[in-house]
Amino acid sequence: MSQGTLFIVSAPSGAGKTSLVRELIESLDGIQVSVSHTTRAQRQGEVNGVNYHFVDVPGFEAMIERGEFFEHAKVFDNYYGTSRRAVQTILDAGQDVILEIDWQGARQVRIQMPEAVSIFILPPSRSELERRLASRGTDEHAVIAQRMCEAVNEMSHYDEYAYLVVNDDFTTALQELQSLVISRRLTLACMQCHHAPLLAALLSPEPGVE
Ligand code: GDP
Ligand code: ADP
Ligand code: 5GP
Repeated sequence: MSQGTLFIVSAPSGAGKTSLVRELIESLDGIQVSVSHTTRAQRQGEVNGVNYHFVDVPGFEAMIERGEFFEHAKVFDNYYGTSRRAVQTILDAGQDVILEIDWQGARQVRIQMPEAVSIFILPPSRSELERRLASRGTDEHAVIAQRMCEAVNEMSHYDEYAYLVVNDDFTTALQELQSLVISRRLTLACMQCHHAPLLAALLSPEPGVE
């Protein structure tokens, strides 16, 4: 069974990663986003099981105990984690998977899966990041202030990622993400996996065997 590729996408809160990833998976076949577990409060408009699996702290800690997380971290005083089984099911089906996770989780994933492709999304400026966080309208003032403080810490880890995308013009940033996914699919290793019958037929010593 051919394995899909794992993409890690990180960014400071408000940089546009959720919006970009949503458009990316709508625009390409064969790629899914992993739905994380979190202990943070559900925002208005968020759907349990779609945006996140919303769980309480004891429930999350029980999952840690049982080793159910591929990676997990505390971000803004809340737990966030990626379930091992969810990711493996998508990869085993030959689909690509995107993890929208913070830098701490990205480090844990790279150790377990060095072949993962990691992408960091940057805002065009600090003032624009603040404007987007506020304009999203989902968080209280205190939460926005905390997320701005944390943003600089998150961005300081940009050089641990293989690719950087600046989300200034949304369409350009989306095209850049699409290019990264497509170019990965054209690598020798991926093509050998996904086009094994074609390659075998092209190289067959018997003419007409396809
Ligand atoms: P938003 O990024 O502003 O929309 O805020 P979220 O509450 O969705 O995410 C908060 C932080 O948690 C971000 O830095 C995410 O990258 C991170 N995060 C989300 N899901 C996961 C996860 O499954 N694992 C880890 N390690 N971090 C996550
Ligand atoms: P994140 O998941 O990184 O926290 P979101 O995807 O929620 O970020 O985006 C934060 C806000 O910024 C949203 O209101 C979104 O519509 C807006 N946004 C995202 N990308 C752009 C862009 N290139 N230009 C202007 N606004 C943007
Ligand atoms: P928000 O609370 O705004 O949805 O997310 C805040 C941050 O948590 C985001 O920057 C996001 O990348 C991170 N995050 C979301 N899910 C996970 C996860 O499963 N693991 C890790 N490590 N971080 C996550």
